[in-house]
Amino acid sequence: MPIPFLNLAAQYRALRPELDRAVRRVFERGQFVLGPEVEAFEREMASTCGAAHAVGVASGTDALELSLRALGVGPGDEVLTSVYSFFATAGAIVAAGAIPVFVDIAPDTYCLDASLLPRHLTRKTRVIIPVHLYGHPCDMDAIMRFARAHRLKVIEDCAQAIGARYRGRPVGSFGDAAALSFYPTKNLGGAGDGGMVVANDARVAERIRLLRAHGSRTRYRHEVLGTNSRLDELQAAVLRVKLKQLSRWNAARRRAARLYTRLLRRAGMSASDLPAERAGCQHVYHLYCVRVPRRDQVAASLARAGIATQVCYPSTLADQPALRGVVPGGRRYPVASAAAKEILALPLYPELTDTQARSIANALARAVRHP
Ligand SMILES: *Cc1c(COP(=O)(O)O)cnc(C)c1O
Repeated sequence: MPIPFLNLAAQYRALRPELDRAVRRVFERGQFVLGPEVEAFEREMASTCGAAHAVGVASGTDALELSLRALGVGPGDEVLTSVYSFFATAGAIVAAGAIPVFVDIAPDTYCLDASLLPRHLTRKTRVIIPVHLYGHPCDMDAIMRFARAHRLKVIEDCAQAIGARYRGRPVGSFGDAAALSFYPTKNLGGAGDGGMVVANDARVAERIRLLRAHGSRTRYRHEVLGTNSRLDELQAAVLRVKLKQLSRWNAARRRAARLYTRLLRRAGMSASDLPAERAGCQHVYHLYCVRVPRRDQVAASLARAGIATQVCYPSTLADQPALRGVVPGGRRYPVASAAAKEILALPLYPELTDTQARSIANALARAVRHP
């Protein structure tokens, strides 16, 4: 039996009656954009993230862009962020009018290397966006210390890390704001696009509420230039059903990851080529990424065996054509560049069976030996 990279149909089958009821409830109420489902979901997510406020928006990308704008970031400002992330992290900075300044990553976690922050600091630096990549929390102690020392704001990119913890506290509760994504493949995925900003400061949350609704608090009066970026009721209703499963799902992901690591270590792979979990961190394994030489041949060999994998990500943000001339050029990011050549994500989801994990681990070990 082929093993898909993701299996969202299996997830639907497990929750079908409850999801169907939730969708029907929204249709019967006849209110589709913002409303009681979104309000309830915002309260539930604020509590999940250990933050005081949460504001539903149209996507994780918008959550990042609106957070930057809510914190007053604009033209000429520089934003420090990881050079190794999904494109949206950089795209949102440019959309807010600011300049992304990339920082290389730590080789064990693939998250921004906080010890490199000082060398990228300029008089124009305003914000740091740490990305909790693949579900592993960034080194928040070091990042928050640096931010305080230099009066920088922090926006956590939690798109891949909902439910992850750093020193016992949920990610998203450390910065001035945090961006969540409910893109269907994320650990908490909707039936379409969706996102959220969580924040502890009521003024930041209020600002996001204004920006997501064309700067309007009362109908037809527009105080600031915002945009249309709202979460809809169908998404919120679906996500509320799934949120109840999130901690169980994340535990199942962690369990599958432990099994992979045990099997792959036994098959001779080195610990440094497998995902790390630093002390004090709770990884939620949005992706389980291994490093293999001759990666593309290994992926092709797994594909022949019916096992789907993904390369996340084949290049650094500094190498993206869209950012040429936008970000300062001529810099090198040796750790991220090396990772981009070797990284490979294996299928990992709560529904993955032990038997599937075993056959994937066997096939991978074989392919690494004879790609
Ligand atoms: C998915 C993702 C985003 C963007 O979220 P969308 O909801 O797809 O706009 C931002 N940052 C990271 C790291 C992501 O993985």
